[in-house]
Amino acid sequence: MKEVLLIKLGEMVLKGLNRNTFEAALLKNIRRRLELLGKFDIRAAQSTITVEPRDGADLEAAAERVAKIFGIVTFSRACVVEKNIDVILTSAAEYLKPELTAAKTFKVESKRADKRFPLKSPEISARLGEFLLQQYPHLRVDVHNPDFVVRVEVRDYGAYVHGPALKGAGGIPVGTGGKAAILISGGIDSPVAAWMMAKRGLELTAVHFASPPYTSERAEQKVADLLIKVSEYAGRMTMFTVPFAKVQEQIMANCPEELFTLIMRRFMMRVSEKIARCEGCGALITGESLGQVASQTMQAIACTDAAAQMPVFRPLIGMDKTEIIQIARAIDTFETSILPFEDCCTVFTPKHPRTRPDLKFILQAEQALDCDALVEECVANVKIQRIYPGKRV
Ligand code: ATP
Ligand code: MG
Repeated sequence: MKEVLLIKLGEMVLKGLNRNTFEAALLKNIRRRLELLGKFDIRAAQSTITVEPRDGADLEAAAERVAKIFGIVTFSRACVVEKNIDVILTSAAEYLKPELTAAKTFKVESKRADKRFPLKSPEISARLGEFLLQQYPHLRVDVHNPDFVVRVEVRDYGAYVHGPALKGAGGIPVGTGGKAAILISGGIDSPVAAWMMAKRGLELTAVHFASPPYTSERAEQKVADLLIKVSEYAGRMTMFTVPFAKVQEQIMANCPEELFTLIMRRFMMRVSEKIARCEGCGALITGESLGQVASQTMQAIACTDAAAQMPVFRPLIGMDKTEIIQIARAIDTFETSILPFEDCCTVFTPKHPRTRPDLKFILQAEQALDCDALVEECVANVKIQRIYPGKRV
């Protein structure tokens, strides 16, 4: 029996956004994610996308990938048959045999998107319900609380029979909202922030600050590994690794210790913004959460923000750590994030960071540094690598 994936787009989103742009972007993202799995015919019609394997391409693997593509509300594996009621009846009974055997009660829901089909939806449901009761005498119909719902959709390209749909990743197709730069550390928070903004349709560019020789090659690899996981949802991206030790040493040598973290974070914003502009990004993204550490108080965030002209998105700002961890587990970044490798921020940590900093004093302290030259040097020495879903390059 011929099987396909039947993918449902976010109807709510379709109203707000330009429908064609949304659909075209989603199609492109699906094609790209499935291209290495084999040949698939992928087409859109009537707010539904069908993915049909060719030459024995692996539909199960395709379903796993589709579950991580933003812009999809639900999807199901379905069998596709001729638009003939007798074929629909016998195919449904056979295709859904395991589920119908296990269930005690069921109901049928039908949808006739192709109005040329001679039977209306309630008639299709009635005919199939009757047929299944004959074929599976242990079954009863329960329209309110059935164990199993049989779904029939009669569409332009064929009739589809399937069970309950699976939940998709939701959100908006990556790329439809433009591009933004995620400041990514090896921690728990920033990969979650990246995922959240990709979910809202942003394509990502990643910027990571490393401090060799204080931080190791392995710590950088950990960040790349995190991005590989995120890219299963967010798609391919470029990772910029910025050598940051010199900036940190200069701050240590010339600025008051209690302002160290904030001045460093302001440098991160400046360097990231430069890279972001070159990459065509319209915003920066960080994993900050209000009150989590000294550099994430309202006053500290105001000082960090003042170093950047671009909007800074902080999707975790109002979230508790436990909520963030829940997402990190769900997107499978948590276990990597907690691996004990040093981060550039943890290498140089002041004993008593200022929690309510005043921008005036920070600007004064920064006078001791040649900020522009340091930023330029960082950008000039950046290391670039491509990140692809599911693999190290
Ligand atoms: P995370 O878990 O994301 O590391 P955190 O709670 O440890 O966050 P900080 O270390 O203060 O908080 O960092 C706040 C944010 O600054 C991070 O979420 C990230 O966006 C950015 N950031 C921190 N360190 C780096 C780094 N080495 N490279 C790039 N961005 C960084
Ligand atoms: Mg951190």
